[in-house]
Amino acid sequence: MTTQKCAACHRTTMSGSRYCLHHGKALESLTNHYKEWVDAYGGISWQDFLDRLSRMQETGSWVKEVIAVELKK
Ligand SMILES: [Zn+2]
Repeated sequence: MTTQKCAACHRTTMSGSRYCLHHGKALESLTNHYKEWVDAYGGISWQDFLDRLSRMQETGSWVKEVIAVELKK
């Protein structure tokens, strides 16, 4: 098996993931956060959610890097 690089950085990915450990965790927390937003506000799209988060100052850099990759899709 070839080692794959994280979609957001130069680290190798975890098996079954497009991301390394750090970015994988960031994506996981993003996904959980998104579910909370959908419950709270309803009807927000994944893209809208990412766009909003990417503009918040309190959003961490790991998360912002994942957002940049996800928005490119
Ligand atoms: Zn990474």
